[in-house]
Amino acid sequence: MNASDPAATDSSSSAAAPRLRPALDTFPPYIPGKPPRKVEGLESFKLSSNENFLPPLPAVLEAMVAHATNPALYPDDAALALRQGLADRLGVGLDQLVVTTGASELLVALTQITSDVTTEAIYPWPSFEMYPQTTGLVGSTRHEVPLTAEGRHDLDAMAAAITDRTSLIILCSPNNPTGPVLRDDEVRAFLDKVPSHVLVALDEAYWEFATAPGRADGLSLVRDYPNLVLLRTFSKAHGLAGLRVGYAVAHPPVIEGLLKAVIPFGVTDLSQAAALESLNHWDEVLDRAARIAQSRDAFAAALREQGWDVPEAQANYVWLPLGEKSSAFEDACVEQAVAVRNLGAGVRISIGEDEALARVLEIAERFRVEHFAE
Ligand SMILES: *Cc1c(COP(=O)(O)O)cnc(C)c1O
Repeated sequence: MNASDPAATDSSSSAAAPRLRPALDTFPPYIPGKPPRKVEGLESFKLSSNENFLPPLPAVLEAMVAHATNPALYPDDAALALRQGLADRLGVGLDQLVVTTGASELLVALTQITSDVTTEAIYPWPSFEMYPQTTGLVGSTRHEVPLTAEGRHDLDAMAAAITDRTSLIILCSPNNPTGPVLRDDEVRAFLDKVPSHVLVALDEAYWEFATAPGRADGLSLVRDYPNLVLLRTFSKAHGLAGLRVGYAVAHPPVIEGLLKAVIPFGVTDLSQAAALESLNHWDEVLDRAARIAQSRDAFAAALREQGWDVPEAQANYVWLPLGEKSSAFEDACVEQAVAVRNLGAGVRISIGEDEALARVLEIAERFRVEHFAE
């Protein structure tokens, strides 16, 4: 109910409000990236939600049309064809996979199967905004472990935060919003310190864009650690954010638990068909991710050239740790019809069209002169 709703006549009276759980006061709602403002004579660009800016693959659109069938029928709850496609592609068993409405639903389900008011969750910060939301919602105690100055996970501090009440640890590689990936050797050393009854979620929403040598490969890690679960999505590299498809890879006991927590029939047949078609174009998807990674590297290099302190950028965005100047930078972009994501500690800029990135580079150059001149 919003303030302009005529039905909300008595919004000032707390007696009229139903009593909601106190846990709701411990975290903010999820705030989506803003759309760009229209500016006369300038094309607008939305670089605020890490969406894939490339046009959809024609075969995927065709699959959607072909599966726009009778909406009276429920979809395949088991998502069998899509899971089989994933199993073949990833070399895992059907019983190691669950398909959900985006990785977002997985984060909710993972928290529900591990956490309550008696348990503790550990995750890096700043990181994905849903981590405080899902762990806060169930009332678990949250340990937000600050990133290092380079925007990387502080795995030693995360290991030190483990107690006998820890039930869930979340890792994010590449980390959203800062960009660096975890390295295979550091993750293994970390996982060796985590008690085997603690579930560790490795959020790989952007793994297809990562290029750094030695980066952690979730699939090889999950083979070796039964308490690890991978979170992946069709939203980013596959460019299907609007269709809401994600998946988890884990050992069967974890998948069985997740199946009790996910929403029945969440992923529509149309979404399943589009995701499967995208999987059938895997090489093309990876080629496109590689192109975006090249733009990212060039963009990050140009920003560093201007003097910006840009952390390792391994996904489809670049992080500027602007601190209190974040809002001023966001405003400078808004004036030029570009939406970026202001997260308080800094600004995250999604990789988009060349013209969009060129415009941000001009804004960034001017901003340095105005705000950081000696
Ligand atoms: C975008 C994103 C997700 C999930 O997105 P869905 O669209 O729900 O699949 C998960 N984790 C991170 C870090 C993300 O940036």
